[in-house]
Amino acid sequence: MPSTDWLSRSTRAVWHPCTQMQRHETFPLIPIARGEGVWLIDFDGKRYLDAVSSWWVNLFGHANPRINAALIDQLGRLEHVMLAGFTHQPVVELSERLAALSGLGHAFYGSDGASATEIALKMSFQYWQQSGAPQKSRFIHLEHSYHGETLGALAVTDVPLFRQTYAPLLNAALTAPSPDARLAGPGETAETVARRAAAGLEALLQQHAGEVAALIIEPLVQGAAGMAMHHPLYLAEARRLCSQYGAHLIADEIAVGFGRTGTLFACEQAGVRPDFLCLSKGITGGYLPLSCVLTTDEVYAAFYHPDIRRGFLHSHSYTGNALACRAALAVLDIFAEDDVLAQNRAKAAAFAPLLAPLQAHPAVRHFRQQGMIWAFDVATTRSDFALAFFSAMLEQGCLLRPIGQTVYFMPPYVIEAEQMAQLVNATLRTLDALVGDGDAQAGEQEPAVP
Ligand SMILES: *Cc1c(COP(=O)(O)O)cnc(C)c1O
Repeated sequence: MPSTDWLSRSTRAVWHPCTQMQRHETFPLIPIARGEGVWLIDFDGKRYLDAVSSWWVNLFGHANPRINAALIDQLGRLEHVMLAGFTHQPVVELSERLAALSGLGHAFYGSDGASATEIALKMSFQYWQQSGAPQKSRFIHLEHSYHGETLGALAVTDVPLFRQTYAPLLNAALTAPSPDARLAGPGETAETVARRAAAGLEALLQQHAGEVAALIIEPLVQGAAGMAMHHPLYLAEARRLCSQYGAHLIADEIAVGFGRTGTLFACEQAGVRPDFLCLSKGITGGYLPLSCVLTTDEVYAAFYHPDIRRGFLHSHSYTGNALACRAALAVLDIFAEDDVLAQNRAKAAAFAPLLAPLQAHPAVRHFRQQGMIWAFDVATTRSDFALAFFSAMLEQGCLLRPIGQTVYFMPPYVIEAEQMAQLVNATLRTLDALVGDGDAQAGEQEPAVP
């Protein structure tokens, strides 16, 4: 038995993310000893079903043998080399494969999602500077958007809890109406809401004609907003309007890319090619930090010049890390060899009857699904709902973190029907215990954190 005496000191030196540290006086941290498929296992052997894919990064389970093997092989060759002036096989292969899959031929690498957002915003801005339209310097984002928490990314993020404190440091962006299908009034469809939101976007583009560099969106599912889903028509309209008004379209597929919404990239469901595609999270299967911004020949050409100042002079120390790129190649191999997208479609269909009792639960509102994401809102006046739900589920061996009153399942793709049934049953028990039939009126909630 390994010694766990470090556990009693676990919150002294480590400052945890997205956390009020004082809460850990009453809610102890969960020490994880190892992972295996959908399971996280603590030092007493207690197993937790990782139904949020460890903050949406894991695709093929923990300790996946194929990704492990690729990384072990890569460790014996090259762990890392700086990517300025040098190159290596995994980064070339990964860029070529992502180009073939996305139709965007130029890949620029970062280390995490927020830096991908920064890269896309800076590239778009600089493109217009170097293309005779320097007045195009503003960005449009959607209501309730989330694109990361560095200062540039936070400027296009519409989550008051994350941005309010830092507002004086942020460049003002323009906010377009949300296409969230839950906004449908009586007799309206998700498509009606999408059309209305697109009309609002057009009004904004007209009002700021010639000033907008880019629109940044989370295609199909706004994750941190509470898995807010919209009709693909909105993406098609956003693409059309961006082209018409001469603004770039930045698709932030950091959370939804790599099959999460049912297609490899969410934009495919609207037949849309963005000018910039931001990828991270699932790109390495949840193994290593890596992000990538893919863009067009046209954008690339605007930077290609004898003058160094016209280059894209952005860098991160670990840009194009060889181990991370190799993990990403192993992920693409699994997609190809196992026909993962078809398997996921079959899984989602097979899970539907298992989820039906949740959909029918009297406290459940707006039950929704997109690919391998299931979500619903809970009608409750409990101000502590998210925390109480999280704790009750942990006791039953399930890791779920509601966002405010929204409960969502975003499991690794390797989840089996038996495990989904376990998750649903634990959720039903927890809903009955915490909220019963639910309250007609939703209450004042603690601010939502993912
Ligand atoms: C997680 C996320 C980010 C930020 O990624 P980090 O790696 O956490 O910086 C950006 N956009 C979306 C849509 C995300 O879900």
